[in-house]
Amino acid sequence: MGTQNYRYVIVGAGLAGVSAAAAIRERDHDGTILLMGAEKHPPYDRPPLSKGLWTGAKNMAMISLHAPAFYDQDGITLALGRRAIGIDARHKTVLDSHGRRVRYEKLLLAPGGAPRRLPIPGEDLEGVCYFRTLDDYIHLREQAVQGRGAVVIGGGFIGSELAAALALSKVDVTMVFPSPYLCSRVFPEGLGRAVQRTYVERGVNVLAGDEPVGIARVRGRLRVRTRAGHEIDSDMVVVGAGIAPQTALAREAGLIRRDGVAVDECLRSSRKDIYAAGDLAAFPCLALGRRLRFEHWDNARAQGQCAGRNMAGRSEPYTHLPYFFSDLFDFGYEAVGDVDPRLETRCEWTEENRTGTVYYLKDGRVRGALMCNVWGKVDAARELILKGEPVRT
Ligand SMILES: Cc1cc2nc3c(=O)[nH]c(=O)nc-3n(C[C@H](O)[C@H](O)[C@H](O)COP(=O)(O)OP(=O)(O)OC[C@H]3O[C@@H](n4cnc5c(N)ncnc54)[C@H](O)[C@@H]3O)c2cc1C
Repeated sequence: MGTQNYRYVIVGAGLAGVSAAAAIRERDHDGTILLMGAEKHPPYDRPPLSKGLWTGAKNMAMISLHAPAFYDQDGITLALGRRAIGIDARHKTVLDSHGRRVRYEKLLLAPGGAPRRLPIPGEDLEGVCYFRTLDDYIHLREQAVQGRGAVVIGGGFIGSELAAALALSKVDVTMVFPSPYLCSRVFPEGLGRAVQRTYVERGVNVLAGDEPVGIARVRGRLRVRTRAGHEIDSDMVVVGAGIAPQTALAREAGLIRRDGVAVDECLRSSRKDIYAAGDLAAFPCLALGRRLRFEHWDNARAQGQCAGRNMAGRSEPYTHLPYFFSDLFDFGYEAVGDVDPRLETRCEWTEENRTGTVYYLKDGRVRGALMCNVWGKVDAARELILKGEPVRT
């Protein structure tokens, strides 16, 4: 089988990869584009997997990133069910899981991240779900029947969303997580404890400040043992313990890595013809003045677009300020900038711990804002953070 040539090869047909392909096509009308995705489903949006598909706000038809005709019309070769397994950076080729080799002029790495495994016995038993993909959603949804039991491990972003989604499906949910309260990496303590109370009011059994030490199959069910001595029997265990960036290909290609793939402000890796974007990219965040990797939707979209434009000839720095959103039952929020609760926080509530904005300050300047059940204020918050003016006391 001969090696096929493409001007652009994109590894990962997720949000970053698809956004890059569209941005390339806007600037380069003829260059051949190969978009390679390991999953068999046409590219889709992940946020509804733990929210809208459970509440009914979204259905399967609504989660596609583009209509199928988009790829044909734009001359983007979409290769699904094809995993890149090797990169030869010297000869500029990518080898895929079907044994096919393609040659690129410019390569984008956008394979996202893989759920972190739990370092405990029984973590790989059947029925333990490391939630990330549409297939994971389909599988979990089949299991999530009224009256069944689930243990959700993790009290961060994915764990708290999935616990809410399962509770809405009338599954008996127990959450176990080591931090003292829910979403402790984002919420100041008062807010985190208040949101956690709403989980308890909705029937979720919350074991905060505890962690699983083992999982075993006992009489057909899964038993989770915790450090504090609890034993919880359930029908399913769902793990939301963060993700690890998929750096194996980058390592093989000899790219510099710092947590993810290290890129410059134009999202170029340590090899000038290879770019990285999305959950994988460790980038210098010009707006916040430090290098970071950001695992959220808006960043994947904006970085994909920026990388795509740069692959097609521009040298545009990525200046976008990090932003993300979530919904936990009827508590929705948007966050922009540095929302680290270790910073000084100031809350402006119209209803305490429910409706209002939390500002995160450093050296007397706003670095981040969390808008709780408040909508349409993101641009104003961005402006405030970027201005960096001292806040009056
Ligand atoms: C359940 C869930 C809910 C979320 N909800 C929110 C939310 O509410 N708000 C928010 O801001 N963010 C949310 N996120 C995060 C957001 O979806 C991610 O940040 C975003 O999807 C990252 O995009 P990406 O393109 O970098 O990676 P991904 O979306 O992971 O896409 C990468 C794709 O590359 C494929 N791939 C991997 N390796 C290879 C390979 N070797 N060859 C070919 N293909 C490969 C993968 O199968 C995958 O399809 C959520 C994530 C999940 C999982």
